[in-house]
Amino acid sequence: MGVSEDILYDCVIVGGGPAGLTAGLYCARAKLNTVLLEKGTLGGQIAITDLVENYPGFPDGISGKELIQRFKSQAERFGLQIVRKEVTGLSKNGKEIHLHLRTGEVVRSKAVIVASGASPRRLGVPGEEEFINRGVSYCATCDGPLFEGVPIAVVGGGDSACQEGLFLTRFGSVVYLIHRRDQLRAQKHLQEKILSHPKVKFLPNKVVVEIKGSEAVEKIILQDTKTGELSELPVEGVFIFIGLEPNTGFLRGVVDLDERGYVITDSKLRTSMEGVFAAGDCRSGSTGQVAVAVGEGCLAALEVEKYLEG
Ligand code: NAP
Repeated sequence: MGVSEDILYDCVIVGGGPAGLTAGLYCARAKLNTVLLEKGTLGGQIAITDLVENYPGFPDGISGKELIQRFKSQAERFGLQIVRKEVTGLSKNGKEIHLHLRTGEVVRSKAVIVASGASPRRLGVPGEEEFINRGVSYCATCDGPLFEGVPIAVVGGGDSACQEGLFLTRFGSVVYLIHRRDQLRAQKHLQEKILSHPKVKFLPNKVVVEIKGSEAVEKIILQDTKTGELSELPVEGVFIFIGLEPNTGFLRGVVDLDERGYVITDSKLRTSMEGVFAAGDCRSGSTGQVAVAVGEGCLAALEVEKYLEG
């Protein structure tokens, strides 16, 4: 099923990660005429997370893929319509909100929940763009198995670098964890796990300044952040986990964003445009936790219900 330009929807949800799918579940159960638009793969960042260990209800953890599949089937069971389309702009026409799609279509709705999430940040060093899919990756679950028995570099010191770095120890002969400081930012439990892993070598106070190779990645050039000294490290895989950038380009000049591009909301998740709400990782102050995204998706849907009731 597609979207129709002839229907005035009650609610359109932009983004099919945990926040969007939860909002969809609540809107569908409230019998609102709702459609969820997703431009890529459902699940966002969670779909590329190997193991989610801190979402309540799964004491042994659950793979990101399976968790999203469960969110999707639960929302669809109550009638949520999910459509693969990209939203490129938003505008207001009286009380109606118009969503402009990449295809040129315009979808009309009484309310919108933006749950467009965030995407991996790029390092911005020479060789990074050139070697994407030839050694450079932002997704361990997608690309990890390609690096069986060879040295891998993981860049970053947050939860993602540690969680995904641990997953990559299944494949790499060695996993170098490269961090620009000597203290990791990740949760203590993850820090302990990764730093005690026999296959992991922690390289603190180092930044990657270049990624080199011919057909594929062969080595990276590191710079010591304390001494400025340069060194070479032979690796075949470079997995970059240095944080996220919000997927809010389509909202620039439309709703208020903070200095980093995240959507500003009030405590009821209302944005600066009447009828437009935001939830999950695209929202200013987001915590990057599935449990929080789910809570915000739920709250946004309840607020939309109240808004529609006038
Ligand atoms: P993050 O928490 O923002 O950490 C980014 C890491 O990359 C930091 O260690 C940062 O260094 C480093 N960094 C940033 N820019 C860099 C650059 N240009 N060069 C080198 N290093 C750079 O990002 P994340 O780990 O992707 O996590 C995103 C969100 O998802 C977080 O809220 C996180 O808690 C959440 N998350 C949670 C889980 C979980 O609960 N299990 C798993 C994954 C992600 P500094 O430390 O020096 O700033």
